[in-house]
Amino acid sequence: MFENLSERLSGVFDRLTKQGALSEDDVKTALREVRVALLEADVSLPVARDFVNAVQEKATGQAVTKSITPGQQVVKIVHDALIDTLRGEGEPGALKIDSPPAPILMVGLQGSGKTTTTAKLAKRLKEKDGKRVLMASLDVNRPAAMEQLAILGVQIGVDTLPIVKGETPVQIAKRTKTQASLGGYDVYMLDTAGRLSIDEELMQQVEAVRDVVTPRETLLVVDGLTGQDAVQTAQNFNDRIGISGVVLTRMDGDGRGGAALSMRAVTGKPIKYVGLGEKMDSLETFEPERVAGRILG
Ligand code: GDP
Repeated sequence: MFENLSERLSGVFDRLTKQGALSEDDVKTALREVRVALLEADVSLPVARDFVNAVQEKATGQAVTKSITPGQQVVKIVHDALIDTLRGEGEPGALKIDSPPAPILMVGLQGSGKTTTTAKLAKRLKEKDGKRVLMASLDVNRPAAMEQLAILGVQIGVDTLPIVKGETPVQIAKRTKTQASLGGYDVYMLDTAGRLSIDEELMQQVEAVRDVVTPRETLLVVDGLTGQDAVQTAQNFNDRIGISGVVLTRMDGDGRGGAALSMRAVTGKPIKYVGLGEKMDSLETFEPERVAGRILG
């Protein structure tokens, strides 16, 4: 999994004299390679720098274990530190949806996979946790998006709020809340409108909906392949709306996963799930080990 970086690092260490402990110079030299690997994996520069500095302090002076080479040892220290950074508090993928009906607000840019992810998560909550879920689309400007959610609902056997033409997103949110209470649902999910880029109108709309339902979870859906842009999106949504977690989609693609590390470092919010395809079953709990492996590639 980490062959590339290991190989690079063993080259570095071959040139250094063997000592009983990792010296500051050894570690510095090795971490230069680590930094390049992080940047190649699309980790943002300040995050890569902070990360490398933290690892440097941890690694310097560590006794060299006999069973592995100094290069492998640094890789292990880096790998463990990556996992620490990537892992949020609490159980991976756990959602705060105890008091029914619990609102989940889904936010993100158009095309990020928000509607698909809403349905995938609803299916998961229904099948894995035995929850009764109600979904509603608030994308009043795109009737096709509202219909898409309704079609997915039928496909996965999850109810969607009947579409009433002419309602505002806040009116739909209120109606969903009422319907969820009356209908005895455990969870209701609001698929907010997306835009191609963040704009003031979108943010105001999401804020208004948030204030009406007080979501238990606000999940930001971001395209894992968009790298630095994804990090910027996460920062903007978190500053403005306050997110509780992230779902990274398109992790079945060949992205290196550096965005996950940057996002975690920049927002402090956990990545809860990853999307691994277009099918309704392809949503998995985020596993820091897997992403750490991809970043070190
Ligand atoms: P929205 O505009 O954010 O609601 O995006 P959609 O949910 O309509 O998704 C846009 C496209 O991305 C659709 O074709 C989805 O099937 C696809 N998609 C969503 N999540 C994933 C994923 O994890 N992997 C892949 N490969 N495709 C995805």
